[in-house]
Amino acid sequence: MKTFYRGKIFTFNHTATLANIQGVIPDSLFVDEGKFTFLRDGVIAVENGIITAVGDYSIIKKQIQAEDNLVDYSNKLITPGFIDAHMHATQTSAVSAYGEKLLTWLNNYVFPSEVAFKSDISARREYEILLNQLFKNGTTSICAYLPSSYDGADVLFEITHKYNMRVIMGNTIMTDGNDELITSPATSMKISEKLYQKWHNTGRIAYALTPRFALSCTEETLQLCQDFVHAHPDVYIQSHLCENKNEIEDTLAKFPWAEDYLAVYEKYDLVNDKSIYGHCIHLSDSEWSRMVDKGAILANCPTSNNYLGSGLFRYDIAIEKDAKFALATDWAAGNTLSMFRVMDDAYKVGMLNSFKLETLTRWYSATLGSAKALQLDQYIGSLEVGKEADFIVIDTAANELLNYRLENSHDLLDYLFSISSLGDDRIIDATYVYGNKVYDINLPCIQK
Ligand SMILES: [Zn+2]
Repeated sequence: MKTFYRGKIFTFNHTATLANIQGVIPDSLFVDEGKFTFLRDGVIAVENGIITAVGDYSIIKKQIQAEDNLVDYSNKLITPGFIDAHMHATQTSAVSAYGEKLLTWLNNYVFPSEVAFKSDISARREYEILLNQLFKNGTTSICAYLPSSYDGADVLFEITHKYNMRVIMGNTIMTDGNDELITSPATSMKISEKLYQKWHNTGRIAYALTPRFALSCTEETLQLCQDFVHAHPDVYIQSHLCENKNEIEDTLAKFPWAEDYLAVYEKYDLVNDKSIYGHCIHLSDSEWSRMVDKGAILANCPTSNNYLGSGLFRYDIAIEKDAKFALATDWAAGNTLSMFRVMDDAYKVGMLNSFKLETLTRWYSATLGSAKALQLDQYIGSLEVGKEADFIVIDTAANELLNYRLENSHDLLDYLFSISSLGDDRIIDATYVYGNKVYDINLPCIQK
């Protein structure tokens, strides 16, 4: 039995790349450019969590059998679920803390809030709130930093596995700094090994070795991380890089042998094509080149960077160098889980650098571009036959102002730009993970 979802369809296609979508302007109203598809009356078919057909309703409707379901989202937009490539699952209770930059914000608000995750009861409660908010905002995949404790981390693996979400996650490794959060290097690696063995490639889950940042790690820890990566070459790595100028100064003081911040991670073989580095705002020319040469992923978090006053990411350089970059919230330094708000802030950051970050580029970097950077594009990021059915339904009429604005919208780029500029959780009508509805604006939270 299949389920057919009828509505407007917008998706990038697998041929799209960061480079080849630059400057693309549809030459007539809502056309299929090959790199993406827009259908005014389209349909996707889903069977056992996999997309089996995408096309015009007038053509695909002939495939609908008596036993199949047809879900009518006419006049609503069906589009891939968003991927959030960098977020902290431990910081929900610290969101919207006032008035600090990175290092004091961590010490004053975030580290105290993360201590609560030693109890799996408080962790479970916060995760339920977080997952509901993610689905309500149309996010279906996350790259997440989990608690440093085994129990606190294991709970979110368990919950996301129940939802059958495609996630990349790992316990945050801290062996230097806040006394209540740090563990010994050996204990950190034991927790990492146990979680890797239990969860990596279980269902749709991938494990990420997650040293928080160089300042929270001793050299012994970084050496053990290198050993871990050598033992498990398929593992993802996540950490932070060049977010804040004081952070860079402190890092170079802590590791005086390093020529720059990136060199600390490079020494321990932590920079490769499965490493996801949050922020990357203040990269030197050399660091930009080395990140691109190694195929490392730059997780760009403009709402967070604006909130903490960290600086302006250089989209112009990222595009010129064809870097692998993905948009992300950096929840909860980013004070929103909405990828619309992230796209909006990315546009504003570009403007503050006198650079017009194109509409398609921003949507791409929250969906297929992110999936390609993360090497997950065979599974997610677009609505194409054979891919996993992670998708959302957008109802622009649910936002009166957006609805009014779109009365005067006459081309695809303006339509998408308006949605990303004015949209938020109010316009997410439904969210589907692997073909299962996990959020419906008209129903109470769907609990697993
Ligand atoms: Zn972060």
